[in-house]
Amino acid sequence: MPKILIIEDEKSIQRMIAYDLKQLGYEVESAVDGFEGYKKASTFHYDVILLDLMLPNMNGMDICKKLRDEGNNSYIIMLTAVDDEFNKIQGFDVGADDYVTKPFSPRELTARIRAGLRRQGNSEKEDIIYYEDLKIVQSSYEVYQNDEKVDLTLKEFELLVYFILNKGKALSRDQLLTNLWGFSYDGDSRVVDVHVFKLREKIDPKANWIKTVRGIGYKIV
Ligand code: CA
Repeated sequence: MPKILIIEDEKSIQRMIAYDLKQLGYEVESAVDGFEGYKKASTFHYDVILLDLMLPNMNGMDICKKLRDEGNNSYIIMLTAVDDEFNKIQGFDVGADDYVTKPFSPRELTARIRAGLRRQGNSEKEDIIYYEDLKIVQSSYEVYQNDEKVDLTLKEFELLVYFILNKGKALSRDQLLTNLWGFSYDGDSRVVDVHVFKLREKIDPKANWIKTVRGIGYKIV
């Protein structure tokens, strides 16, 4: 069930929205104070946040900016009081996804929410990479082969994702070192070989999909 947070200090509007959304089967929480709303949004996960602009203690712009700075990826819809061009642009600047102008109809709002949820669902799909019989969930660093979990170290995981995202390209050891170990790494480039060896061992060695490119490095096809 999608979770929605309403941050709105006009109680009549807040209650009306909450009522409508609950009727549609959403799980709804509310805050009528900017700071309280911000605390909730940064502590719990919400799929969609409806954020009023003018709020006591902390305004909508500041809340939105702070949440984005913290890496919050909820779909944020700003509730603006007037059709104010300046506020809209500012809203997008601080990371809002959409806005509705008061007074809005419940239908308009729910249409925006559904659009937001669809987009959230799509970004979830991008989080998952499929390759051959592998399923890789980037956000949780999990790899499954034929639905069985494969335990990889963080570097092995990063190496696997990098290989797959660059499939078909010959990747030099230097390139892999720079991208995965960073410029500051001044150790032995054989560290790459060791990790590739481990990766081949952990992910069905028979498949042999990490090819050695002589004199350069590796590639997958
Ligand atoms: Ca307000």
